[in-house]
Amino acid sequence: MRVVVTGGAGFIGANLARLLVEQGDEVVVVDDLSTGFRSNLDGVDVELREGSILDATLLDAVVPSADAVVHLAAVPSVPRSVADPLTSHAANATGTLMVLDAARRSPTPPHVTVASSSSVYGANPELPKHEDLRCVPMSPYAVSKLATESYATAFAHVYGLETMPFRFFNVFGPLQAAGHAYAAVIPQFVSAALEGRPLPLDGDGTQSRDFTFVGTVVRVLAEAAHRRVTSPQPVNLAFGGSTTLQVLIGMLEERLGRPVELDRRPPRAGDVPHSQADPTRLLGLFPGVTPVPLEQGLDETIAWF
Ligand code: NAD
Repeated sequence: MRVVVTGGAGFIGANLARLLVEQGDEVVVVDDLSTGFRSNLDGVDVELREGSILDATLLDAVVPSADAVVHLAAVPSVPRSVADPLTSHAANATGTLMVLDAARRSPTPPHVTVASSSSVYGANPELPKHEDLRCVPMSPYAVSKLATESYATAFAHVYGLETMPFRFFNVFGPLQAAGHAYAAVIPQFVSAALEGRPLPLDGDGTQSRDFTFVGTVVRVLAEAAHRRVTSPQPVNLAFGGSTTLQVLIGMLEERLGRPVELDRRPPRAGDVPHSQADPTRLLGLFPGVTPVPLEQGLDETIAWF
């Protein structure tokens, strides 16, 4: 298969590109390298088209010859979207629209997977998060991700485009960058712990997340593209785990064989206390998928650092 991976030089995209190439696919990466890195694709036999998904000419050069598009390119951060909502909207909402439009104008339209986020549930406190819950986005990022998945379902409805909208939860693993202001909690904790720095902890650590190892996520994405799995509604891509940051810190201490220091900070404004997926819909579409356990994922992440 020929697969276009937008955002393929990023954390999830580069892990996916590597898996697809291993599985024998021809992979074209479209990435403007704004948060991704060329080095994430070192040793992976892909064609890298450096440029933006906002460039229709670039999309028209690669999308029509693809069997599938996995659209991951985005400005992937809540605080970034708060600092600059227009840039976030352009990449995440308009960018998705342009990718879907290039696909539906293709003579043989490719299957398109898109990446939404658990952030769309926002202020709705109900747990676990099942996809029929009312979405209450609380940031420009969450709004842009609701637009991402809504465009995908609307394009399926009006043009018959085969689309698969996923809501990712807290994905972690190798290639996830640690050294920037918007880094996710696991790479922040692991890099601090390995360097002997205090772990930056926002709030009291009782907040919980449904951490999903990237290896599991990319297996599902590859299967969706290969089997052309579609869904008329968004599907959570997480398995219902619930791990508090306190427990996560304990797991790290166990692995390092020593206690870690904490740099305690006030709770982050807008942080949801708990996030946990209802995986029923996912498991109905992908019955064969077994998630990599958090402990094993942490070991692989620590080994990568
Ligand atoms: P990432 O920043 O590592 O990857 C995003 C990639 O998109 C980067 O390589 C970046 O250079 C590229 N990009 C950004 N704007 C672009 C543009 N206009 N044109 C072309 N390329 C562009 O982030 P990630 O964690 O790998 O996220 C991948 C996708 O998954 C994103 O859509 C994100 O919103 C979504 N997501 C991620 C998580 C998570 O936990 N990592 C959770 C929910 C949703």
